[in-house]
Amino acid sequence: MAKKEEPKLDLMGNWAYAPAPEDSKHIHLNKKYDLFIGGKFVKPTKGKYFDTISPSTEQKLAEVAEADEKDVDLAVKAARNAYDKTWKKMPAKERAKYIFRIARMIQERSRELAVIESMNGGKPIRESRDIDVPLAANHFFYYAGWADKLEYAFPGRNPQSLGVAGQIIPWNFPLLMAAWKIAPALATGNTVVLKPAETTPLTALKLAEIIQESGLPDGVVNIITGFGKTGAAIVNHPNVNKVAFTGSTDVGKLIQKSIAGTDKKITLELGGKAANIVFDDAPIDQAVEGIVNGIFFNQGHVCCAGSRLFVQEGIADELIRKLKDRMDTLIVGDPMDKNTDVGAINSKEQLDKINHYIKLGNNEGAEIFQSNCSMPKKGYFCKPTLFLHASQSHRIVQEEIFGPVLAVQTFRTIEEVIEKANNIPYGLSAGVWTDKGSKIFNMTGKLRAGVIWANTYNKFDPTSPFGGYKESGFGREGGLHGLMPYLKF
Ligand code: ADP
Repeated sequence: MAKKEEPKLDLMGNWAYAPAPEDSKHIHLNKKYDLFIGGKFVKPTKGKYFDTISPSTEQKLAEVAEADEKDVDLAVKAARNAYDKTWKKMPAKERAKYIFRIARMIQERSRELAVIESMNGGKPIRESRDIDVPLAANHFFYYAGWADKLEYAFPGRNPQSLGVAGQIIPWNFPLLMAAWKIAPALATGNTVVLKPAETTPLTALKLAEIIQESGLPDGVVNIITGFGKTGAAIVNHPNVNKVAFTGSTDVGKLIQKSIAGTDKKITLELGGKAANIVFDDAPIDQAVEGIVNGIFFNQGHVCCAGSRLFVQEGIADELIRKLKDRMDTLIVGDPMDKNTDVGAINSKEQLDKINHYIKLGNNEGAEIFQSNCSMPKKGYFCKPTLFLHASQSHRIVQEEIFGPVLAVQTFRTIEEVIEKANNIPYGLSAGVWTDKGSKIFNMTGKLRAGVIWANTYNKFDPTSPFGGYKESGFGREGGLHGLMPYLKF
């Protein structure tokens, strides 16, 4: 008789989940990816390529072309040509059909895209499958709808396209950020040169394949890969009319300086250090789930991550106890496993940065708590981390860490928490947990944050505008507001 297998126990003595890996046999990756310029995949002029890896296995996935200034020039020329000869002249309802088709094709290939997103970026498959890819398709659907209705969106204002949009995106939501940028640009009649982040180019290149297959006229969307230098060449190209950037505040500042004195339009979506505020009348269990969703899922790789927790004193002990218990149940590991809650940190460099901040938090005197979870032997992983008794002057409270690290403070009054929440250089997002609608409205008027979630966190929708205050940038993406940066009136 076969021996009955004993269930495995995790570190807490609970039964561990059996592995549930997503299959990756159905996807195809080329050994080498060229630049997508003028509707074709072309070799970079200098013939240089760099490796792109999986942060969870540290294995190479493919080689990707490095575009230099000459390649950027070719891409901008292709975009300008497509703008003048085709896209600008095409009736808006025809443009909409292409955007709609891209949305449908993303849906059709959603499994493949989700798998590649998790392989290349390290985020759990559950997130790329249920959030990133469906939202990317929804952005294309949503903006396809606006393309022939711009005069209704802005009545009496005669909206006109700008020309060529140069778009630079980060590594935390590679496909979704590409959709956020490309869909409104196309709907408003602009053409595009887009550069994905150097660590996560693969889903953008898959999107290039989709765009090619969709029959979108050559040159309307060009996708080129490379590092910061390539991004800078896009920003500085004289024939680019609009720059859309999502990334770090430091690079955003550089970009703003470099286009000063030109007539380029610009939107910047930069860093954040969101306050997640829990009042003593909040539903505590839901709040705990929202806190975990806000900072630990997606490894804290979200600019709007709820990385500062403010708990009203009366419920602090209970909430922290429940939060610690919940953290102990989080599964850190293989992004391809459907049970995984916290995947891989995107790069070694980012993991070093997070570990540096964890050391700093300890040195600053905050009390550390880390999930009691098992950690993979290979790859870049970080335990979900709490810092209790953090104070407003601590660097772990003031600076963006971009990892699964939560700084906790308590408060007594509304005035105190508003003061503390606003007293940082950033202003991208915030969360408020309370039973009282009036308190929510009071808070939303006083918190300097572009997006405020009430009794939930990290929820996105294409119809809703997103963007920041202060050093989190300016301009809005999503919704009707997201059309404006791509239009002149
Ligand atoms: P993160 O800290 O999120 O990696 P970065 O701001 O460094 O953010 O990167 C975001 C994007 O900006 C990436 O695509 C990167 O290649 C690009 N980038 C980096 N430096 C520059 C620059 N000087 N000009 C334009 N783009 C840049």
